[in-house]
Amino acid sequence: MKLALNGGPRITEDSIPSRTTMGDEEVAAAEEVIRSGVLSAFIGGPTEQFNGGKYIRAFEEQWAEKFGYKHAITVNSWTTGLVTCLGAVGISPGDEVIVPAYTMSASATSILFYGGIPVFADIDPRSFCLSPDSIEQNITEYTKAIMVVHLFGGCADMDQIIKIADKYNLRVIEDGAQAPLASFNGIPVGAMKDIGGFSLNYHKHIHTGEGGVIVTNDDELAQRSRLIRNHGENCVESYEVSNLSNVIGSNYRLTEIQAAIGIAQLRKLPSILRARRELAAYFAKRITTIPGITFFPPPEHITHSYYITPLLINESELGISRARFIQAVNAEFPAARDYEDVPLVGGYVRPLYLSPIYQQRKALGNSHFPFSLAKREISYAPGICPVTERMYRSELMYTPLIREPLTEEHIDLLIAAMAKVVENYSEIA
Ligand SMILES: *Cc1c(COP(=O)(O)O)cnc(C)c1O
Repeated sequence: MKLALNGGPRITEDSIPSRTTMGDEEVAAAEEVIRSGVLSAFIGGPTEQFNGGKYIRAFEEQWAEKFGYKHAITVNSWTTGLVTCLGAVGISPGDEVIVPAYTMSASATSILFYGGIPVFADIDPRSFCLSPDSIEQNITEYTKAIMVVHLFGGCADMDQIIKIADKYNLRVIEDGAQAPLASFNGIPVGAMKDIGGFSLNYHKHIHTGEGGVIVTNDDELAQRSRLIRNHGENCVESYEVSNLSNVIGSNYRLTEIQAAIGIAQLRKLPSILRARRELAAYFAKRITTIPGITFFPPPEHITHSYYITPLLINESELGISRARFIQAVNAEFPAARDYEDVPLVGGYVRPLYLSPIYQQRKALGNSHFPFSLAKREISYAPGICPVTERMYRSELMYTPLIREPLTEEHIDLLIAAMAKVVENYSEIA
């Protein structure tokens, strides 16, 4: 059959169903808060309300329990959550922090907020997360922390990473924005060593419009996070912290309405994950019929959360370029209404070190601070992370279609579209 790209009939004329997690529960929760009149109860001073109002506290308690961590601390985005974590662990100007280049930009820019210097390490080509070998190669006497990103909903190799961190006395911060309730050896990611957390922005599994949650088992890191979240300089002497570094506070507070919505959203997370894991298992069986495209089911000890689903593409086995393949497959579906409806996407993000902020080493005004504080030569040259660059350039694509409310029939359509393109290469090669 003629490809839709060349004017043939599409595999389907039905649009991919959009997703929303908002329902009557969230409407009722928001209304309850509005009727109470108290939309935020935080006070930036040493009072009862320093840690927020009743919905914030209830949401944090429930989050901590569900994720199995002693403390959960809400923030108004996960970007500010990351900044808070870096402050809490005590990053100082000039400290090096190891971070992957294949991630959302905030995983690295959060380091710059405290004058830390991002050192980009490469990823493992199966997990797409930091490679323990590359971490070790990038450790120097100036390294203070490792920023682990659990990309796409999978998990980094936390056993090895924690071993390395222990060996070199480094802090581990986990960016679990894409991986709520993903687990490694049965333990939910987030703060398997020190501190980390999750995003509640509109595009994540569950959301409060904007928002984030920090988790930790460490009382001191939790206290420092609460201080940073809420103008800590006003009341640091009233709380137990062993030193004052980085408790310059800000206003990273979530509102009561968001917390109330978050409580309703948290209840939905298990069913969202169940739906995605079931679809992924079905997809894993079906995709094996398409040559040149590989889906790696996670190993036994990892439970994946399928924020998006990565696929490896072998262009020479496939016979055409990734871009052309994706274009042809997407043309088999009606035009997408938003990015969660696009069947296939190539490359994910440009390796972060190739962006101007690192190429020009300019983050704050026209100074080169904090890059100028580096105690050794740090390279942001093309080629420093070859696996990341390969994935970006030609080997990785992903589908956002492993998600509710889609069904096995949608997966069948996706597989049928891929098979149709493969069978008709001659039309577009
Ligand atoms: C979404 C995301 C962030 C940022 O979260 P926000 O809540 O949007 O600030 C950080 N890291 C990763 C990996 C993300 O996917």
